[in-house]
Amino acid sequence: MTESKLTKPCTNCGATLKLSPENIVITCEYCGETYDVDFNKVAGHKMIPTKSQKEIRANVTEFLKKNKTDINSISIDEVKANYLPYWIVPFKSHTEYYGVQRGSVTRHRTKTRTVTDSNGKKRTETYQEAYQVTVWKDTKGNFSRNGKQNIIARKHTAFYGFSEFNSTLFLDNVVDFDFEKVKDANSEFINAEVEPNEAQMEAYGDIENKNRSMAASNLHKLVRCDSEITVENPLYVHSPLWSVRYRLEDKIYKVSVAGDSGKVVKGEVPITTKQRIINYVLGTVLILVSAILGNFGIQMSAIEDTAVIGIILIILGVVGISCSAIPIRKAFKMQLEKSSMKEIKKERRISLKAAKKALRGGK
Ligand SMILES: [Zn+2]
Repeated sequence: MTESKLTKPCTNCGATLKLSPENIVITCEYCGETYDVDFNKVAGHKMIPTKSQKEIRANVTEFLKKNKTDINSISIDEVKANYLPYWIVPFKSHTEYYGVQRGSVTRHRTKTRTVTDSNGKKRTETYQEAYQVTVWKDTKGNFSRNGKQNIIARKHTAFYGFSEFNSTLFLDNVVDFDFEKVKDANSEFINAEVEPNEAQMEAYGDIENKNRSMAASNLHKLVRCDSEITVENPLYVHSPLWSVRYRLEDKIYKVSVAGDSGKVVKGEVPITTKQRIINYVLGTVLILVSAILGNFGIQMSAIEDTAVIGIILIILGVVGISCSAIPIRKAFKMQLEKSSMKEIKKERRISLKAAKKALRGGK
């Protein structure tokens, strides 16, 4: 029977696990037990803690309020945590590089000039003029860089707001996976499609590229760059990306929230009928006024006395018509896309600074 190959009972809780060839690591949705491709339990399963469902809901409401959405007429239909799988690959690297650096030296040359003395007599004198010469210097250097490289364990990730989420993800505050803490929320554990050794290989390439660009950054030309990289066994980490769906006037909108910061990474904001009408009227009035100005301008530019004013009016008319595209385009749009990425990045910088400061203080 093929069925027995596709399902297996969870050794921890007995629930039926559905297996598929793509899933390399699977997590039991009833107890959180995690198995590798050979059905061995995965040790050291970690997660990123998330803000509560209540906080996520409150933050989404706040986000919509900020973006002028009438929150009394919306209904939030779904607030769900998707735990995305990552491999965190710890690494050590040492890089030796060699290249050419651009510099400049000051040289002097003798020049002559004619001066007039106090008696009104002209004479020629010599002087030294300084000038800069570009020089090329062979440079070599080395640096060590140790850290963690995060690799998403999915081949294709179609989650709304994923790339924004991924770009701000900070996988340093991982904790042991604790099913008790996440089971109450409407959670789904996404299984890994990427094997640990594939993740190590991908991390190796990323680390090498980063080292190369770091070496090149203070050189005019990088000639050679050798990195010795050791990648260790990766940690399996589930990281929460919340998807929220809300309804307004029978239309459904999506918002994605990063679980760790609780901030919206991407969200659809409706434009109300009233706002669309305002934009439409604004755009139309702008076109009309611009056309009238342009028309006057053409007439006035033909008369010599008013030619300059005429040309200015023509320019104003053209600019006005081009600008009218902005409200007109908005008038035909049903929604906008907004995010709090700036806020997340700012907070991340502050927390990184604090972490560095704490490190220095501890030494
Ligand atoms: Zn189970």
